[in-house]
Amino acid sequence: MLNKYESYNSTADDFQKQMQEFIKKNFKDGNVMFLNPDAETNNGEGEVVDEEKDIFQFNYKPREIKEYLDRFVIKQDEAKKVISVAICDHYNHVRLALEGKEHPNYTKQNILLLGPTGVGKTYLIRCAADLIGVPFVKADATKFSETGYVGGDVEDMVRELVRRANGDIKRAEYGIIYIDEIDKIASAREMAGRDVSGRGVQTNLLKLMEETEVPARSPQDIAGQIAALMEATRPRQKKQPNTVNTKHILFIVSGAFDGLDKIVRRRLRESTIGFSTKGSEVPDDEKVLELAETRDFVEFGLEPEFIGRLPVRVYCKPLSVDDLFGILKFSEGSIIRQYQQDFVAYGIQAEFADSGLKRIAELAANEKTGARGLMTVCERVLREFKFELPSTNVKHFIVDEELVNNSQKVLTRLIQEQKEKDKSNVGDIVAQFVREFSQEFKLNLSFTETAIKKLISEAEKSEKTVADLCKEKFKDYQFGLKLINQNTGQDSFVIDCDAVENPDKVLSQWVVESYRKQQTENSDKKDDESG
Ligand code: ADP
Repeated sequence: MLNKYESYNSTADDFQKQMQEFIKKNFKDGNVMFLNPDAETNNGEGEVVDEEKDIFQFNYKPREIKEYLDRFVIKQDEAKKVISVAICDHYNHVRLALEGKEHPNYTKQNILLLGPTGVGKTYLIRCAADLIGVPFVKADATKFSETGYVGGDVEDMVRELVRRANGDIKRAEYGIIYIDEIDKIASAREMAGRDVSGRGVQTNLLKLMEETEVPARSPQDIAGQIAALMEATRPRQKKQPNTVNTKHILFIVSGAFDGLDKIVRRRLRESTIGFSTKGSEVPDDEKVLELAETRDFVEFGLEPEFIGRLPVRVYCKPLSVDDLFGILKFSEGSIIRQYQQDFVAYGIQAEFADSGLKRIAELAANEKTGARGLMTVCERVLREFKFELPSTNVKHFIVDEELVNNSQKVLTRLIQEQKEKDKSNVGDIVAQFVREFSQEFKLNLSFTETAIKKLISEAEKSEKTVADLCKEKFKDYQFGLKLINQNTGQDSFVIDCDAVENPDKVLSQWVVESYRKQQTENSDKKDDESG
């Protein structure tokens, strides 16, 4: 029998479930987060875990993290090393803090990633978060406003982290927050009409990056507040805290920082005035960004306190055609594998030749969106293949240079060639259908020459395969033919041109005839008996 506490508790559980449904239905995002007081023992997927202990057991070495990242992220070696070290430092520190052995003057290893779009900045961090098993959230700095009334509130990111951790606040407190487009909230000092809002957002972010308590539910989130009230009714011994401490959250910010190169170059030139030989050492390409210092970021428009909280800085390089080729060919996350899988679902083998990959990489480089261009190009090249091929008998094709350059022409040719093959194989295809029909229904079919010719011409006109046409046209034949078999004992049937053209009409004629035949036979029998 349930004791008082258990029965009350299960009612509270039911109530919470019902309320969850109610809130989902009635609030527009339907995405209400329920804090999970059992989170320490259940990760929401039925697995028993103890995250605090997991973090506690963090024992990766930088090289291990880098080796893992190498499997997915091509190039960006320097960034991979720096990130691996920063992550190890951070989580080792968290482990010590949990053991009560925290170093009092520890500086959190928040990271600033510089570099153009689509070169793997987010991908690096996402992969690292996956490996070490901490929740990860990405947001754009441009989304936030200082007050949080227009646009988002920076604290929303922390709450999102809790959501990603299945409502487990403890896990969220060791998560990673990634903020892109941080350069867009620089306050552009040299411009008149300084962007005050950008400064405000920086100040708010700064608070998060230091240490602050963020309410697990936004005050503006009515649905969340209702959920909070409900949780308060639950008689649990273990109560979740209702604020998230940001002390151990790792912050990673990134941006392209267009124009920063000029600032760095100017400083470098000014500092070498009088040392004319050194002046020539100022790099004239993007490499100059590797030399960016705190004061350059301040001149760019970041607040000194803000940039000061980002001690780890690393530059992610643009990707060359060869790098893009490497991503397609070697990265475990290559979109090529995704395409192959999509085709395999239809029994089609898509083979990517190096010449095809090279050409895709070249076209993607022209897009100037880093590795994102690969997706654009593949989509453009293979879109029609994905639509057309599943309804044909083509079971294999090679993505080579010619296909990438002339995808439509190659597709048409492939389909045409397959049709020719289908034509010469049509006898086999029909024989296969006949065999399967006889095995399944114990009834024998045979097709006349003209019936087969008719199937071929219909297949050509309709762009369907002969096999699909047979299945479609004779899908109800077993029912009618069984009736005929019962009436007359007939078990072999000849499909002629007429039956291919009007399968249903012909079948019903046959059935009617079989009844007639049966009646005549019966009356003949009676006549015989009476005679
Ligand atoms: P950003 O630098 O703008 O953060 P992302 O990391 O989001 O770019 O890259 C977009 C996608 O392109 C990634 O999800 C990944 O599939 C691919 N990609 C980008 N850079 C690389 C890289 N260096 N190695 C492997 N894949 C990459």
